[in-house]
Amino acid sequence: MSVLLTNIGELVTNDPEHGGSRQARPTGAGFRGADGLGIVPGAAVVVDDGRIAWTGPAASAPAADVAVDLGGRCVIPGFVDSHSHTVFAGDRSAEFAARMTGEPYTGGGIATTVAATRAAGDDALRARGQALVREMLAQGTTTVEIKSGYGQDIATEARTLRIARELTPETTYLGAHTVPAEYADDRPGYLALVTGPMLAACTPHARWVDVFCEPAAPTAFDEDESRAVLLAGIRAGLGARVHGNQLSAGPGVRLAVEVGAASVDHCTHLTDADVDALAGSWSAGSGGSQGSDDGHGTVATLLPAVEFSTRSPYPDARRLLAAGVPVALATDCNPGSGYSSSMPFVVALAVREMRMSPAEALWSATAGGAAALRRDDVGHLGVGARADLTVLDAPGHTYLAYRPGVPLVSEVWKDGARAG
Ligand SMILES: [Zn+2]
Repeated sequence: MSVLLTNIGELVTNDPEHGGSRQARPTGAGFRGADGLGIVPGAAVVVDDGRIAWTGPAASAPAADVAVDLGGRCVIPGFVDSHSHTVFAGDRSAEFAARMTGEPYTGGGIATTVAATRAAGDDALRARGQALVREMLAQGTTTVEIKSGYGQDIATEARTLRIARELTPETTYLGAHTVPAEYADDRPGYLALVTGPMLAACTPHARWVDVFCEPAAPTAFDEDESRAVLLAGIRAGLGARVHGNQLSAGPGVRLAVEVGAASVDHCTHLTDADVDALAGSWSAGSGGSQGSDDGHGTVATLLPAVEFSTRSPYPDARRLLAAGVPVALATDCNPGSGYSSSMPFVVALAVREMRMSPAEALWSATAGGAAALRRDDVGHLGVGARADLTVLDAPGHTYLAYRPGVPLVSEVWKDGARAG
């Protein structure tokens, strides 16, 4: 059955057919100026069999089995949240309150989440994950990536990923989130576990491998340890992504480019060489010694809700954009450093605090996230894309940042059907 969505005040397609830059190109031009969103005013969309079949001016729309009048509202591609940690147990609101009253954030509070997650049954973990994904969907997110990393033992990492896989195909093995307390005096022992039996138990449930590469944090991983984790994952058939350069200008970005990672996330502290490496990863023939040579470089994924919730300086998005590095925006939804599931909130932060234009921020929260997951079927509304779209109770996309904190998402369509 085909469905015509019509009377769309402003349609954001990210589609080159309408002047948008649908996908990050090997040239490194992730977002191409004011026309980059491929906007169609007075638009309609035809959905058929879960995919976009047609987009254009409503006046020239083809017939469909059913017509839905959207009353002049704005339609955007569903948000692609390419970085979250939404399967866990426990609560760290007291840690947040302490931090907001003057205690510095060191990342040490993760041990409380690890203990609670290990102790939780599958049903409790599944219920939390389902609730958060529902919460995300209600805020316009139609694709989400979910990481493990709060088990840090074989059984809990594997069951976390098994449950995450019920919620999304974009699952990431993050056994190397931190070194758990019982291995504090045996880091090589934990590395052997993460790159050996734990990896083997998790690979069937994962698409990606990730590591918290941050030599400045004592429980995170240094360059050599991080390389070992990523290469073991790649050898097992997983794609690579990296938590890097969050607390200091460490080796994370360089390593991500070296192994051909799809994305390096945080990017709060960057050197000129880091920015050059990211831009260079999108040059023809690049792609990393272990990565793809299909023109996909490494996306810089910025997570400003973390800087908000840890009261830290924001990443320099303009520097990355000026260098032609494709930028993604994601929530990093997690119980410790930032517990927001809201992509509209992230877009508003990116505009207000990182000086991205409303158009750049929306592109990064949709097409940018898709590039960070190396997906070409989401993050845009070109013909053939998944019919994942978000309807805003607003006349245009600028309202996402213009009206921060206001629930503007009025309905969400996932795979061609109205969700929720
Ligand atoms: Zn994270």
